[in-house]
Amino acid sequence: MKIVMLGCPGAGKGTQAKIIAERYSIPHISTGDIFRANIKEGTELGKKAKTYMDQGALVPDELVVDLVADRLTWEDARDGFVLDGFPRTIPQAEALTKALKEMGTELDYAIDIEVPDQNIIERMGGRRACVSCGATYHLVNIPPKTEGKCDKCGSDLILRDDDKPETVKKRLDVYHEQTQPLIEYYQGLGLLREVDGTVQMNEVFDAIAAILGA
Ligand code: AMP
Repeated sequence: MKIVMLGCPGAGKGTQAKIIAERYSIPHISTGDIFRANIKEGTELGKKAKTYMDQGALVPDELVVDLVADRLTWEDARDGFVLDGFPRTIPQAEALTKALKEMGTELDYAIDIEVPDQNIIERMGGRRACVSCGATYHLVNIPPKTEGKCDKCGSDLILRDDDKPETVKKRLDVYHEQTQPLIEYYQGLGLLREVDGTVQMNEVFDAIAAILGA
């Protein structure tokens, strides 16, 4: 099962991608996570990516396309994957189609999780991320067991710079301008499936599972 998740920042792509990955035993590949890991390790890629991420801008295509194309050649992705946060531009989507074609394969679905803008700012202000392992929580929807601490590793939880309200507004603008055109792109390829992302997390997953099959 080869899947791409679409939807604006905060729509719940990451949460659903993780559940899909577990249910279908395929790797969850998040470019945002890859960049954050690089920032944490202080790599050159991380330093470059951070300047864009902190402003709510997209990291340039050339920094992300080869990285994903390489990741898709790993053994664990042979029978499938769920891509979360990639592609985010038409050139990235075209590069993905091309890379898969060269590998003799193609995508099965592009799942778009639909949530109106006004819901997003509210949601993202409540998001908290672990400084250490990157696990994500929400003050209202997925609270940690102990306030301010990660359930998994006990480290502090923070509001990520890119989840701050002014950055969220910018990220939504960037989404509408650069990423939303992908909906039409995947519709044209007959791969687009849309789900309502305003309902409970498990209901969103039920809708996705109905598309993917049990
Ligand atoms: P995410 O965790 O997917 O919301 O990504 C966080 C940030 O990482 C984004 O706001 C972008 O700055 C950057 N990023 C992640 N994936 C991509 C991508 N495919 N293309 C460009 N920038 C990306």
